[in-house]
Amino acid sequence: MARPRILVVEDEADLRGLLEYNLRQAGYDVFSRSTGKAGLDAARVERPDLVVLDLMLPEMPGLDVCKALQREPATRGLPILMLTARSAEVDRVLGLELGAEDYVTKPFSVRELLVRVRKILARHGFAETSKEEAPEELRAGPLRVSLDYHRVTVDGSEVPLTATEIRLLAHLIRSGGRVQTRTRLLDEVWEDAGDVTERTVDTFVKRLRAKLGPAGDLIETVRGVGYKLREP
Ligand code: CA
Repeated sequence: MARPRILVVEDEADLRGLLEYNLRQAGYDVFSRSTGKAGLDAARVERPDLVVLDLMLPEMPGLDVCKALQREPATRGLPILMLTARSAEVDRVLGLELGAEDYVTKPFSVRELLVRVRKILARHGFAETSKEEAPEELRAGPLRVSLDYHRVTVDGSEVPLTATEIRLLAHLIRSGGRVQTRTRLLDEVWEDAGDVTERTVDTFVKRLRAKLGPAGDLIETVRGVGYKLREP
């Protein structure tokens, strides 16, 4: 399936750059314009799947762009996410009446905006296939930990591990070489730490190392403190 194409219409260069960057990171094709007029033309010609539209724009205000897009048969129904100023309640109401699908109020968090974008696209029939949906994989040297499938491989061969062993290994990899105390590991890895002690951690690490074979050497004991992942 083709990646959704998003048009960003925003005159503030910094914000435009930030939006472009983050939307691309999220797996979308992005192009942008810096005036209302140019945005309207681009929407007509390029037919994006969604428009992120600022309301305060030079040449042609966002509300007029919105109105024009919904008036023309070719662009009617094109989903619009408005960016509005906090104080501009009237603009928001009007924008939604004019056919915008949703809005975010400045200043917004990028995360919030991405959630809105995903929801709008899902409503318009795009499967949620942005990068974030890809199964998370952690890597360290020959080790690969796929968290969605609960699968660990060393040099491509699967090593059967228990769920707790996978969590322990994943935590050590995520810690990026920083030492993890036994207490920390108990908190992070064992969901119900009621009857486990710090010695349990040692037992699990020992077993994990044995199962991983030579790759087990990546787990380093830091005497008197805990464990960390060695630089592969
Ligand atoms: Ca603006």
